Amino acid sequence: MKRKLPHLFRRAGLVLASAGFVSALMPTQAAAQTTISPAKLEALKKEMVAEIDKQQKSTQEMVDMVFSFGELGFQETETSRYLTDILKKNGFTIEQGIAGMPTAWMAKWGSGKPVIAIGSDIDCIPKASQKPGVAYHDPIIEGAPGHGEGHNSGEPLNITAVLALKKIMQREKIPGTLVLWPGVAEEQLGSKAYFVRDGYFKNVDACIFTHVGDNLGTSYGDVGGNGMVSVKFNFSGQAAHSAGAPWRGRSALDAVELMDVAWNFHREHMEVTQRSHYVIPDGGDQPNVVPSKAAVWYYFRDRTYPKIMEMYQDAIKMAQGATMMTNTEMTYEVLGSAWPGHMNKPMAETMYENIKLVGLPAWSPEDQTLARATQVEMKAPKTDRRGRPIDGLAMKLDSLSKPDNNSIGGGSDDIADISWNVPTIVLRYPSNIPGLPGHHWSNAISMATPIAHKGVTAGAKAEAMTLLDLLVKPEIIKNAWAYFNDVQTKDTKYTPFVSKTDKPAVELNKKIMAEFRPEMKKYYYNPAKYKTYLEQLGIKYPTVRPAATSQTTTGGN
Ligand SMILES: [Zn+2]
Repeated sequence: MKRKLPHLFRRAGLVLASAGFVSALMPTQAAAQTTISPAKLEALKKEMVAEIDKQQKSTQEMVDMVFSFGELGFQETETSRYLTDILKKNGFTIEQGIAGMPTAWMAKWGSGKPVIAIGSDIDCIPKASQKPGVAYHDPIIEGAPGHGEGHNSGEPLNITAVLALKKIMQREKIPGTLVLWPGVAEEQLGSKAYFVRDGYFKNVDACIFTHVGDNLGTSYGDVGGNGMVSVKFNFSGQAAHSAGAPWRGRSALDAVELMDVAWNFHREHMEVTQRSHYVIPDGGDQPNVVPSKAAVWYYFRDRTYPKIMEMYQDAIKMAQGATMMTNTEMTYEVLGSAWPGHMNKPMAETMYENIKLVGLPAWSPEDQTLARATQVEMKAPKTDRRGRPIDGLAMKLDSLSKPDNNSIGGGSDDIADISWNVPTIVLRYPSNIPGLPGHHWSNAISMATPIAHKGVTAGAKAEAMTLLDLLVKPEIIKNAWAYFNDVQTKDTKYTPFVSKTDKPAVELNKKIMAEFRPEMKKYYYNPAKYKTYLEQLGIKYPTVRPAATSQTTTGGN
């Protein structure tokens, strides 16, 4: 992977031999950019904060609307149409269907440098349908997908932030290009490596990503998660009557089971940082037909690219071994991937200064009642992994998270593929309830309630301020690239898991959405008729079990 140079060098057509040369030339660039006084910058930030407060109604509508769409990865058609319509109306130019994904897009506004990419995920979780504001399992539609990860809130945050920023940029004639884009199929780790491969981040100078959390914060360095590769192994054998002539059959399902047994024995000898898990999307049709086709779908995760590749190669060997034992055949395909995350220090420090200015939202007693009742319902632990108490919604602002080099591993996000190509940070904002399991209906409870709306408004303020900083203080992007070149990528080079010929797995989830969408359509949010989605669903906020009320209202806020 060719390392990128800061934009001025690309613009000036200079070829540089070393990163040291970069800093020597930078002052010219600084002079070429807008500079405004600290007092003026502070005034502009205050103005944006006031504007974002004024836009709370439209923020709430966007959050609630995307919540009601509840679309799984690669099938985010309503969500993408809705979001791009808003952006189009606000003067953005949209490129639809990028990188071979019908639901992916890039929305551009402004001109010149710097080019700043602003993204967030948009897909949801299978079987996570849940009525918002209700502190126990009560699906809108039983078995349907739902926003049990809170991905309905990130793009509304981005749109709120950039529309406030755009006003200022227009009036003050601040140069720069804003590029909004969606994390399609994040739950499949399915899109971002393709955006990078297909060149969509080639001319981007910095990227700000947002992801829902339970506090307002950001991180730099190794974020402590795992990278991963998602691989489906397809076995084929020979069908036969399972009772009449079983000796003529060769079972693809046997191969799947033998591969899984081998992998599960292998776990004993793996490092503690790995995570691997599988589902069997095809286990045959019915017992009296020897399965001629079967498939098993694995996620292989670890802390570094070489370790993940080792897992991947081990799995291929086991799949091959399974074919030998069962006289079957096997092919495999990559369905998604993510690098381990590493975020940019100068940008995170800039963001954190703004986070401190914004602070946490003021939660109402109703917000806290919902949060505590949900925590009781879900048997939430008393403290989180960092030892901070879990009791209702966050009341103490997160610190700037430092690199987590000794992590024992965890989840993955394909934003990492972008962060290894462009200086990137992730803003977490407090729209969810602490102490929940994640990827679960309970994580949808707050996501179309005042908790989510307030969290998004707070996040939009921090993001808008940071974007303005990046536009008017060129030294931040300069320092961001120096960190990227001299620290982050000094010894670690990005090698994508996806090849030149791999294609995004756009067929995923098609069947599930086809099954549920007709029923879900009846519950799409109608803002013309109802102030909030809670009102449309006739939900009293908050709705908690009678027992939970008495336990949770005494502590107050
Ligand atoms: Zn997510």
